[in-house]
Amino acid sequence: MPPSSPTFLAIDWNGTVVPIFGCPVYAGAREVLEDLHQAGLPIFVVSCATQGQIERDVERTGLKVDGIFGCGDKGPIFSDLRLQHGVGLVLGDHPADRRGAESAGLPFFQACLDGQIAFPGQKEVFRHWREVPTLLLAGRTAEG
Ligand SMILES: [Mg+2]
Repeated sequence: MPPSSPTFLAIDWNGTVVPIFGCPVYAGAREVLEDLHQAGLPIFVVSCATQGQIERDVERTGLKVDGIFGCGDKGPIFSDLRLQHGVGLVLGDHPADRRGAESAGLPFFQACLDGQIAFPGQKEVFRHWREVPTLLLAGRTAEG
């Protein structure tokens, strides 16, 4: 991938990949995540949950990811990921996801999959998972 493409994806779980624990994944999420994973992009799930809770739910969906983190504060996890993997991209649906991304100096795309309104000043939003690859490409074009 070109240098300005994200070097990893850090994804929130509830409200971003599934509506909530136990629910089917959002339309298109599986296909997009599998394509990106197959293209070599490391994918990490970072969720405000216990480690066991989030591991069980990711396993339930059968999605293949490179790491799963249950935590209270996502900022330090994002910072560690940045140290190890470079400048990745954070996807999430909650202001705390954006704050965590900002604290680690990572770009953030807001998931508005259930009709949410974009946060103030938030330009990168997606309303369906099929928009995500296009957004990734648009970011690359804008920067590179
Ligand atoms: Mg969420």
